[in-house]
Amino acid sequence: ATFSISKIQNIAKNFAIEGDIESAKPFGSGHINDTIFIKNAETNSPDYLLQRINHHIFRDVEGVVVNIARVSAHLDHKLNGEFKTENGVERVLTLIPTLKGSLFFKDEDGNFWRMYHFIEDSVSYDLVSSAKQAYEGGEAFGRFQRMLADMDATLLTETLPNFHNIKFRLNNFYQALADDVKGRVKEIPEEIELIKSYEEFMCSLYEMGQAGKLPTRITHNDTKFNNILFDKNDRVICIIDLDTVMPGYVAYDFGDAIRSLVNTAEEDEADISKINVNMSLFKAYTEGYLKEAGNFLTPEEVESLYLAVFLFPYMQGIRFLTDYLQGDTYYKTAYPTHNLVRTRSQFQLFKKLWSHKSEIKSIIEAEQKVASA
Ligand code: ATP
Ligand code: MG
Ligand code: MG
Repeated sequence: ATFSISKIQNIAKNFAIEGDIESAKPFGSGHINDTIFIKNAETNSPDYLLQRINHHIFRDVEGVVVNIARVSAHLDHKLNGEFKTENGVERVLTLIPTLKGSLFFKDEDGNFWRMYHFIEDSVSYDLVSSAKQAYEGGEAFGRFQRMLADMDATLLTETLPNFHNIKFRLNNFYQALADDVKGRVKEIPEEIELIKSYEEFMCSLYEMGQAGKLPTRITHNDTKFNNILFDKNDRVICIIDLDTVMPGYVAYDFGDAIRSLVNTAEEDEADISKINVNMSLFKAYTEGYLKEAGNFLTPEEVESLYLAVFLFPYMQGIRFLTDYLQGDTYYKTAYPTHNLVRTRSQFQLFKKLWSHKSEIKSIIEAEQKVASA
């Protein structure tokens, strides 16, 4: 979506920002919200980032921004104290309230807007090109979890209930299978077979949680690489995109990060022969992650990391397949079988990961030994 400068000006004037707006333009490559960079007319005043929040996905906008503000305040406190880094580049995502003191502004069209400080001189990567970046990324998400490990998870709202709940995703899938509204079930016998044969294994992380073996902590829940801002020396400045920050299991963040990191192909690659697992990126990320998180994780949580590596491509495949069966109502599609292609691509990634399972296990165990030594 594009917005006129006068529209942006009308929105922006409701927030407690300094100076006048020189220009406003669409920014970044996010898929969920509309992001607009606001350049300050005064050179010595800060620039801003305005976002229109996708309230079709985030129904509880208030819950989302309150979660972000609470987490940011906690991180800010940590970074000014025991977690201060030598290089001093680390920053916290900061919401700017409206003049009336609210964390968002609702316009006359029913859209919800929020304002952030723009973090200058930063880059984010859609694709990871080196083990160093993977290591730094693992460290950043591990550190993020570590800084939040002493924060009470019940202070946050579960803004997307059941987001990473495999039982919930399976139930939706079986319902879509039974309904078969588009008559597509006949096209997917192999996918159904795969889903059923790994179901028990895939539910084991959930079962550990139900049995009280995994603490509920504060997790990011969208640990894609482009949600990390780096400086020009590839040092992490800030974890961004806190829309989905809520109570969860640490393994969720690990599994989802690995899913996109190690894949040598795009998420919707149609030629499955191109899909492989980059194990050196896996090792580098795991090393960085456990360096930060290894010391506070319980032995069961470390065990759960292994399960999450396989769970995430499996679960994402199920979500694409469910949408395919339901007639492509959730994910945007570019062609009729797009969701089916995405499903097969995720399942292929899962199979490739599965073929490396003993190596994956020993890397996690070895890095955990190093981290806790
Ligand atoms: P996603 O598809 O990952 O959910 P999104 O639509 O939720 O994305 P964000 O990730 O919040 O959007 O922001 C989009 C992009 O804007 C980021 O990838 C990053 O490049 C940039 N960005 C976000 N917040 C900031 C900030 N405070 N300072 C500088 N750049 C930022
Ligand atoms: Mg993002
Ligand atoms: Mg987002």
